[in-house]
Amino acid sequence: MKPILPGATIGILGSGQLGRMFAMSARRLGYHIHVFSPDRHSPAGQIADKESVGDYDDLDAIKAFAKKVDVVTLEFENIPVAAAEKAEKHAPLRPGPNVLHTTQHRLREKTFLKSNNFPVTGFIAIEDKLPESPNFPAILKTAGFGYDGKGQFKVNSNEELADAWHKLDKQPCVLEAFVPFERELSVVAARGLDGAFAHYGVLENAHANHILDITTAPALIPAKAYKDAIEITEGIFNKLDIIGTTCVEFFYKSDGTIIVNEIAPRPHNSGHLTIDACTTSQFEQQLRAVCGLPLGSTDFHSPAAMANLLGDLWQPTPNWAAMLQFPDVHLHLYGKESARPGRKMGHATALGKSGVHAAGIVRAARQAASA
Ligand code: AMP
Repeated sequence: MKPILPGATIGILGSGQLGRMFAMSARRLGYHIHVFSPDRHSPAGQIADKESVGDYDDLDAIKAFAKKVDVVTLEFENIPVAAAEKAEKHAPLRPGPNVLHTTQHRLREKTFLKSNNFPVTGFIAIEDKLPESPNFPAILKTAGFGYDGKGQFKVNSNEELADAWHKLDKQPCVLEAFVPFERELSVVAARGLDGAFAHYGVLENAHANHILDITTAPALIPAKAYKDAIEITEGIFNKLDIIGTTCVEFFYKSDGTIIVNEIAPRPHNSGHLTIDACTTSQFEQQLRAVCGLPLGSTDFHSPAAMANLLGDLWQPTPNWAAMLQFPDVHLHLYGKESARPGRKMGHATALGKSGVHAAGIVRAARQAASA
């Protein structure tokens, strides 16, 4: 298949910060960008040549968009599969609708993982009635449309389970066994059209209020768990035939074993540090993969850490000059107009002598911005 070369137009479904950073990489390589989403003047739209505003359910609008681009990719997995299939009739869609269909629905995703012998926590599907005697503690999650801990509750008894399901409007759900994990990890990787696979090692993620707070590279875990995480990730890419950048999130337990939590079929927040820390960022890698070009080197210049900058920091404006007193810190802002608490507004990355060193720098820089 002929590669899609600079000068061509890449279509992006979704227009948030992931699309913005993808668009920046693509623009640097001389591609044109056309974004489709329901939002106007969006983070990605600000960088794009063209911003189409439409509903993902408007299949005529999706068709008109896909006809104008050379390839379509996405930055958000909750695109309706019908829209993905419509787009694919008019331009290659990478990753494909099958990847979206599996990963946008927790029950399908967990069933895929289990039936292919990837390690996953025990789970029960809840369709229209609650199970009689499940094990507790457990986590109740909506089967569809969940992210950053939204649509999920930790439950310790049948009463709490009934209450939580009621709060979720008795939607189809997954009841997962609670994993007493020691750390949270992720592997961000890419797979090219030719099947080549490249990863950024294992990253360690610390969350606050269910939202990613700090990512450190590399994760400090034993070699066996590190190797397992990479092998499982490559296995998932091959089984799903993923083209592009994808993240697999893991729980690491104190006995050294790992369990897959979820698959995000797009660049990921934990991979943002690759922009400043690696030869090829996760976004350029996505571009290369979807265009059928060779993948780039994933080598790190040094250990690194990333801190998210949430809307909470805007009281009313962060002290950027104080943050930039830290000469090793790179600031990235997403061009969002309103800073609501919990909203991802930007991130900062620091390189360091070790991941712990870099995390110390980036935390201090973020702290300085709040003063
Ligand atoms: P998710 O939206 O599924 O990624 O879940 C958000 C966060 O909730 C995860 O990053 C974990 O911190 C926590 N979590 C989710 N599922 C479980 C589980 N089965 N056991 C323990 N903690 C969980």
